[in-house]
Amino acid sequence: MQSPRAQNRQACEHCNERRYQTFVAKSSNGLFSLAQAKICPHCHEECQRCEDEGFIFIKDNRGYRYAAPCPDCAPMRQRIKAFNDSHIPAHYREKTFENFERTTSNMGRIHLDLFRYANSFLPGDKGFLLHGPPGGGKTHLMSAFIHRITLEKGINARFVEFSHLLSSLRLQFDQGKGDTAIILPLVEVEVLAIDELGKGVNNEWQLSVLDELISKRYNLGRTTLFTSNYQIRPDKFKYSDVANDDIRRITRETLAERIGDRIFSRLFEMTSFIHVDAPDFRKNKLRVI
Ligand SMILES: [Zn+2]
Ligand SMILES: [Zn+2]
Repeated sequence: MQSPRAQNRQACEHCNERRYQTFVAKSSNGLFSLAQAKICPHCHEECQRCEDEGFIFIKDNRGYRYAAPCPDCAPMRQRIKAFNDSHIPAHYREKTFENFERTTSNMGRIHLDLFRYANSFLPGDKGFLLHGPPGGGKTHLMSAFIHRITLEKGINARFVEFSHLLSSLRLQFDQGKGDTAIILPLVEVEVLAIDELGKGVNNEWQLSVLDELISKRYNLGRTTLFTSNYQIRPDKFKYSDVANDDIRRITRETLAERIGDRIFSRLFEMTSFIHVDAPDFRKNKLRVI
């Protein structure tokens, strides 16, 4: 509940009345930058109940005092913490549903569907896999979904770039940690979002770790989201006029070939497959059959 003073003041132009702001910060290991959020300093007023401690003391019926989250401001703090723990890359700091560019009617429909899904979403609900050529806004949409469920609903989520995931698994494995210890935090998180699935997979060990991660999340009924540049069916495009080698490789291979039939069929059960167009890319580079 807002205080009477808060209700009377002018709308805050700094945070658009969201009461939080996002900014960019270096990750704890300093290697990459992350999107972070904080309470808006321009419109924030000290919590009258807990004086911004975030918790209050309650006496139980035996007279013992214990600390409990402040009912007035703890939900806001939890939402900001959920966003900050999600590790959205700095580049996607402001990639939300509000600023997504709907270039085709199909994109408009996907955008609206995912926006509605985020608003009604509960942890454990079915995930989705956004697939299509690069440049169509898949990562923007997945990032927007994570923004929404963390900052508006306080749901714990984690965003990982697939090739970074593989290299950090490799690093931890080289340091002598077992497979299970490595993937445990990613198994536990309520919503895991994996960007660019299939990129960089090149050995059996990586596939077996990916299989373990996805199977465990599946068995626990946890929601997992994906984007992938690899196509689902092998015959969607003609390649004769594709100039760039990377694009040719991406469009020629299917996701099932990249990650194996076993993981692919698991994804089919866990997620809704959504084809995301990339009109600019397609117009310039590819002819659709
Ligand atoms: Zn503000
Ligand atoms: Zn409070």
